Amino acid sequence: MSGGIAYVYDPERTFTDRFNPDMVDAEPLDHDDRVWVGEMIERHLEETGSMLAVRLLASWASTVSDMVKVMPRDYQRVLDATGGRTRRGRRSKRRSWRCLVGEPTGFMKYGRQLPRRRPVRVRLRDWREVYEPFAEEAVRQQGARCMDCGIPFCHEGCRLAT
Ligand code: SF4
Repeated sequence: MSGGIAYVYDPERTFTDRFNPDMVDAEPLDHDDRVWVGEMIERHLEETGSMLAVRLLASWASTVSDMVKVMPRDYQRVLDATGGRTRRGRRSKRRSWRCLVGEPTGFMKYGRQLPRRRPVRVRLRDWREVYEPFAEEAVRQQGARCMDCGIPFCHEGCRLAT
């Protein structure tokens, strides 16, 4: 993890024994974090009706005390140097998914689509793209499926792309 902030729900209190502290710090949530995480869980509840979100919000004081904030040290250095004005900065006012993601529920609204592949016998004769052209509108719609989840290698780890 090299960028962004992760909030880990750790009711068993085992996380700090199992994470690699070489590049990141694990710390309790401060006031701003609590507010922000609470808003995100409320938003998640609104959008999905998640029963887990209901449970977490119902016992909010204990939920928050069971959470750990994971902060990459380099990222913290950038925040400190910029006064927290980065896109996901701790002191940034723009912390909502609405600002970061075009369509927060796009992954539920649009199914996965891929451009068609050119036939193998044709592809063997040239070095051009494997895929046929994909309409710009379709590309935009597929892009709307992104949740800005923070996985550093989208091309390999995106659960929405499989
Ligand atoms: S892994 Fe997928 S959902 Fe996450 S940021 Fe990348 S494209 Fe978006």
